[in-house]
Amino acid sequence: MIKKLLIANRGEIACRIMRTARGMGIATVAVYSDADAGALHVEMADEAVRIGGPAPADSYLDGSRMIAAALQVGADAIHPGYGFLSENPDFVDAVEAAGLVFVGPSSDAIRAMGLKDAAKALMEKAGVPVVPGYHGADQDPGRLAAEASHIGYPVLIKAVAGGGGKGMRRVEQALEFSAALASARAEAQGAFGNSDVLIEKYVERPRHIEVQVFGDAHGNAVHLYERDCSLQRRHQKVIEEAPAPGMTDEMRAAMGAAAVTAALAIGYRGAGTVEFIVDGSRGLRPDGFWFMEMNTRLQVEHPVTEAVTGLDLVAWQLRVAGGEPLPLAQDQIALNGHAFEARLYAEDVPAGFLPATGRLDHLRFAPGARCDSGVREGDEISPWYDPMIAKIVSHGPSRAVALSRLQQALSGTEVAGTVTNIGFLAALSRHAGFAAGEVDTGLIGRDVADLVAEGPPAPAVVIRAALAAAGLDAPGTGFEGFSLWHPLTRQIHLLRAEDDFRVSLAVTGPGQAVAGFEGQEHLCRRDGAGWRIGGTGPMLTAVALADTVTVFAGRPWEFALPDLRDDWDEAGAAGNLVEAPMPGVVREVCVARGDAVAAGDRLVVLEAMKMEHVLTALRDGVVAEVLAGVGGQVSAHDALIRFEDVPEQAVAS
Ligand code: ADP
Repeated sequence: MIKKLLIANRGEIACRIMRTARGMGIATVAVYSDADAGALHVEMADEAVRIGGPAPADSYLDGSRMIAAALQVGADAIHPGYGFLSENPDFVDAVEAAGLVFVGPSSDAIRAMGLKDAAKALMEKAGVPVVPGYHGADQDPGRLAAEASHIGYPVLIKAVAGGGGKGMRRVEQALEFSAALASARAEAQGAFGNSDVLIEKYVERPRHIEVQVFGDAHGNAVHLYERDCSLQRRHQKVIEEAPAPGMTDEMRAAMGAAAVTAALAIGYRGAGTVEFIVDGSRGLRPDGFWFMEMNTRLQVEHPVTEAVTGLDLVAWQLRVAGGEPLPLAQDQIALNGHAFEARLYAEDVPAGFLPATGRLDHLRFAPGARCDSGVREGDEISPWYDPMIAKIVSHGPSRAVALSRLQQALSGTEVAGTVTNIGFLAALSRHAGFAAGEVDTGLIGRDVADLVAEGPPAPAVVIRAALAAAGLDAPGTGFEGFSLWHPLTRQIHLLRAEDDFRVSLAVTGPGQAVAGFEGQEHLCRRDGAGWRIGGTGPMLTAVALADTVTVFAGRPWEFALPDLRDDWDEAGAAGNLVEAPMPGVVREVCVARGDAVAAGDRLVVLEAMKMEHVLTALRDGVVAEVLAGVGGQVSAHDALIRFEDVPEQAVAS
């Protein structure tokens, strides 16, 4: 049995592994790079060891430092998570040579599946269906072109060492073959240091369906049903689900048996995934699936399998690694309901899904859904690693219920401070074809324009943003100082992409305001932490940061605040008194008693809601009294400056 486990990984998967290990009474050791010294996985662990600099090659990819760290703290096992060292057979050998347990398969099993061509040959021999194609050693371009024609177009060129869709090219016709081959090879050489390719028949309306397998050291192997990962963008999974929509008992039995055969063929130990490509053009048929590759580790999307089987896959991994037999036999593993997982990324979707960085100034997950995350509010998404923020998982008795729970979980997720793909995920979760279970790997690509389009924000969203920008959200601010007979009116200016929004806000009482927007008046009512716009609208929450406001209405709507200082309409300054329009701290007093000021001159700089507001004179006059002191805390409506009385004739003119 494992007593102390070092997790050679970071982020959500390190946290997820620690949760289970702790529950099993296993002590946990985190490792971290300098970029992760304050990360959640470090905080969660019983012990943490610094590995090196932020670049993965200096830390999370450095196997010898991982092993040294494990020995240093007296760990007896290493869990690699996914990515990084998880499928590196030399690392497995080194771990075992150091007398430690590697939580995963043998190095031989990893090697057998490491290259797509050798894996396909092995599977073919074991009787597992493989995609028709060429996976021979002869890499002569003429031979490859001849094989492509023999297979029949369209074909797919794949790097044998490939992963993450790199070195992969779809070729429609013979004419395009040699150019596509050259570019696939160059990409493969750059990414994997290996330019060898294989050629496959391109499967039409392809669906990606994979089977979770588990083996132990006693010669047993089972499957834990399938996952459908057809919702992909550029060969990257976006939303996964289990079971596969439209799956029949017959096809499930055939796929499960093929996956178990694959696991047994390489004496597989631990958690693995056998990926199949499925011809979705004629419905799911037992003769319409082919082996693509096997991932010899825990997958990112394992939570959907956990949701439908009720099993803890990490617990199984740790038990099997500790020498125990598989906890359940095949007929004891039940399939229950349906589950989805959506991958929430810091990503600039309109800019072409570019990975983004930034500080998670605000982060709330929807209650009720499983959210696997390795970050907290306030954490930075650094440029060093995968920008995943969380995996949002839903489960329900039926696909429809699970999908509606996914939609709820997505709309209840609040992130501000960095751009994310959540609007895209929310749109995808409402896609009619997806809802009907008509998934294939081309779905996102075909409809990406609609899925990315945001449209203009609804008036209620704009008004809600204005209320937050005016500082009317924070408890204890905003209302206490205002009186009904002296309403404060402010003009709020908001920007979103090319659009420019102007909202006038009049606070009419505690928790009440009237917003003027595009010629219409809207009654606004505060309700807990949110506001309802138009009396009966839904409760909308928002968060105001230094120069942005984000409204959460089905998805986040971010607005920029252009120079707020220009927008002040100090109700109190029209008379003799310049009053604080909101509670805050006086940062600067720009005038002294006896000064003559002109309309527009700066009087006081107030800091409120993390923003500086400059109060300017609305008329010419002479300062009679300065009532504010620098550093002083003021409440809304506090008098800050008193002007000398205006002579009667001046008022009249
Ligand atoms: P990688 O290891 O680079 O991720 P895979 O072999 O796993 O590459 O394939 C990635 C994705 O490419 C699959 O999920 C599927 O969407 C698509 N794909 C792979 N092989 C085929 C094929 N023969 N026909 C059609 N699509 C394919």
